[in-house]
Amino acid sequence: MNNKVSLTTQNRLIIFGLLLSTVLIVAIAVFAIFNIQKKLNEGYQNFGQVISKTLAIESVEITKNLPADKIIDTLQTHSESILKSHNDIVFIEFRDKNGKLIYSGKNPHAVQSNTNIRVTSPLTAIGESNPVGSVTVGLSGDIISQISSTTRASLLFVFSVAWLVFAFVILINTYLITRELRILQNGVKKISSGEFGYKIQTKDVSSEIEELFNAFNDMSTRLHIYEEQNIDRIMLERNKFESVLMSIANGVVVCDDNDNVVLVNNHAQTLLEVTEEQVLNKPIQQYIDTSGNYCFKEKIEQFKDTPLEIIEKKPIEFNINVDKKVIKSIISPMFTRNKDYVGYIIVLIDMTKEAEMEQMRAGFISNVSHELRTPVTVLRSYIDTLYNYGNEFDYETQKEFIGTINQEIIRLNRMVNDILDFSRLEADTELEKEPNNIEHLIEECAKQVEVLTKEHNLHITIDKKSLPPEFMFNYDSIERALTNYLSNAIKYSPENGEIKITLNYSPENKEVEVAVTDQGCGIAPEHQKKIFDRFYRVENNTHTIKGTGLGLNLVKTTIEKHHGGRVFVHSEVGKGSTFGFILPTAPVEISVK
Ligand code: ADP
Repeated sequence: MNNKVSLTTQNRLIIFGLLLSTVLIVAIAVFAIFNIQKKLNEGYQNFGQVISKTLAIESVEITKNLPADKIIDTLQTHSESILKSHNDIVFIEFRDKNGKLIYSGKNPHAVQSNTNIRVTSPLTAIGESNPVGSVTVGLSGDIISQISSTTRASLLFVFSVAWLVFAFVILINTYLITRELRILQNGVKKISSGEFGYKIQTKDVSSEIEELFNAFNDMSTRLHIYEEQNIDRIMLERNKFESVLMSIANGVVVCDDNDNVVLVNNHAQTLLEVTEEQVLNKPIQQYIDTSGNYCFKEKIEQFKDTPLEIIEKKPIEFNINVDKKVIKSIISPMFTRNKDYVGYIIVLIDMTKEAEMEQMRAGFISNVSHELRTPVTVLRSYIDTLYNYGNEFDYETQKEFIGTINQEIIRLNRMVNDILDFSRLEADTELEKEPNNIEHLIEECAKQVEVLTKEHNLHITIDKKSLPPEFMFNYDSIERALTNYLSNAIKYSPENGEIKITLNYSPENKEVEVAVTDQGCGIAPEHQKKIFDRFYRVENNTHTIKGTGLGLNLVKTTIEKHHGGRVFVHSEVGKGSTFGFILPTAPVEISVK
């Protein structure tokens, strides 16, 4: 209940009722006192009349046969006896028929000497019509004022008591009614806070209220039963919904229509590098990425400025960068079944790999075009020169020209083959395999690169640690893989360097390991992890030789995808590298997908 003293309509009515009853009671009391006072005054007036008349008759009677000199004494004696017995009579006066005062007696016992009422009666003998004089009685009215003040006090007391009882009854009644309302209000609060099954006590309440309380308790019990029946289903639904959102592969941030985050799934927390506590119940605009930018702020403003029907069809898409990650963010509005807008969802998709790939692809295209243009330009100029001026050159120069042309054609051929191999190996068609001799293959490859090694004054050796039997593999693809390793080793080796091919067979593991070790520039650890990725190239001061970034990826695809083997690299910058592959000699289940 609200503790603040506020005048409800009910309170106002009670106060109004109390004021009205006070006014009524006071008015009735004043009216009653006024009436009583009036009646008393009239009665007192009559009392004065009676006294003066009685005194007149008595005085005429007692003085009727007396000599004139005795009359005054007799009147005095009689008057004094009356004055003595009535404290309320202040004085008695006798006058003759001419109005001359013949006797005046004052009451020594009168409480107060004020005369409030004077009553005069004629002194008339019985049977006579003319009065012989008059008698005047003066009354103080003390009794009246005493009676009326006593009456006033009693009435005031009675009405005050009546008013107090009345007010008390009203207040108690009000309290009792509001007590019942308070009990009911408390019950409703419990229900609204989810305490289904809560019961209110029905004792000490009026019968109508008891009915209401019983209906309330009945409703509470039904809600409790309903809750028991549905809670599991609701919880299951809720958990299902939450676990789907929480475990979804993309990041999901749900915001209410005040922008406060109400849900942030695990993936979103990882992508945004925040914990649930850091963002939950806070506006998403306050999120700061690792570079210190409020990366959502502007886009959310834009989202809010766009009409819902437009944004619903075309959600806002943008990229944010958190740390080194590129995250695609999509903001779309959220509606209830009744199409009421309730907030928005931000879906976060990690595009780092795709962005890297895109960058690599762009690099690949520029590299390929560059790589193709160079031999083509060289070929054109050499062939042009030979065609136009060939006769003028001696045999040695012509041979030199043709040698260069041959080299460039080999380079071109290799590159075109790489690209063709790439698309072939990427395709899902399985390579044909037959029993082959790997030792023979290694010797063939070494022979093929002999010209190149000689050109660079490189020394190539084969270390056959243990020889495997023939086993199933696709000869051409493995040959290209090893040639790739070898040509890279040649490319990155210093003059007079040594290149070693190692062959090792492990009968226990049923595996053959082939490795190519050079004494070249080596590869830094951060590049080693990615070196087998498609289009990946190390481009720095040491690795200046251009290429497509496809060679090692082709090796990986050949070995892993088509033969169920593994590739590896061990390298140290400045000392050299060992690139190798391991092939299973026993048949393995291959999935080219
Ligand atoms: P590319 O055809 O461009 O040479 P690769 O896939 O064959 O592509 O090689 C990828 C990268 O790996 C190259 O850019 C190169 O820097 C590095 N690399 C490959 N082999 C060696 C090696 N033996 N020594 C040093 N770096 C190497």
